Amino acid sequence: MTPEQIKESLEHNHQIIIKTLDACPNIVLVGTGNPVLRQKAQPVSLERGIETGEELKSTLKKYREIAGYGRGLAAPQIGKNESVFVTYVDDKFKTYINPKILEKSKDFYLYREGCLSCAYTTADVKRPRSITIEYTDENGSIIKDEVDGFLARLLQHEYDHLEGVLNIDVAEIGGLGPRFSDPLKEELREC
Ligand SMILES: [Zn+2]
Repeated sequence: MTPEQIKESLEHNHQIIIKTLDACPNIVLVGTGNPVLRQKAQPVSLERGIETGEELKSTLKKYREIAGYGRGLAAPQIGKNESVFVTYVDDKFKTYINPKILEKSKDFYLYREGCLSCAYTTADVKRPRSITIEYTDENGSIIKDEVDGFLARLLQHEYDHLEGVLNIDVAEIGGLGPRFSDPLKEELREC
């Protein structure tokens, strides 16, 4: 990147972050002293899970309208110590209540992850390529899914939030940096 491109990219991302903070003041940012991002989330009732899921969807929707990206949001990120997260994949929101990752593959992908709680910072993180996850859906059914690729990556990032872990905590050595690239063009990389 040229110095001009770097400046342009930083300015562009700065504007997005300022606007999203205005639109979504409930998003908890790392470094602001709120311990909720570092706590293990507690199991919730179905009713509570649905309610928090709706709040997460509405926040993620507002964020996406401004930023044009954002694939997931977990309850600690809106200040709730509850075991719930939502995703936005294939133009649909989905709520995961009391999720558990039951199995992880032993092969890995690398990917540069952004996080709504980490503002400018992105983290290069190695994660298992596929997982088996169990969760309660909004109908109260217990679902067991085996997923791989980008979805496995997203679910592991969100699940980590419920464990009190951020992507910047598990980044590869030297893998933290500002957001220079377009997150929509980010790809899973072999490692
Ligand atoms: Zn995140």
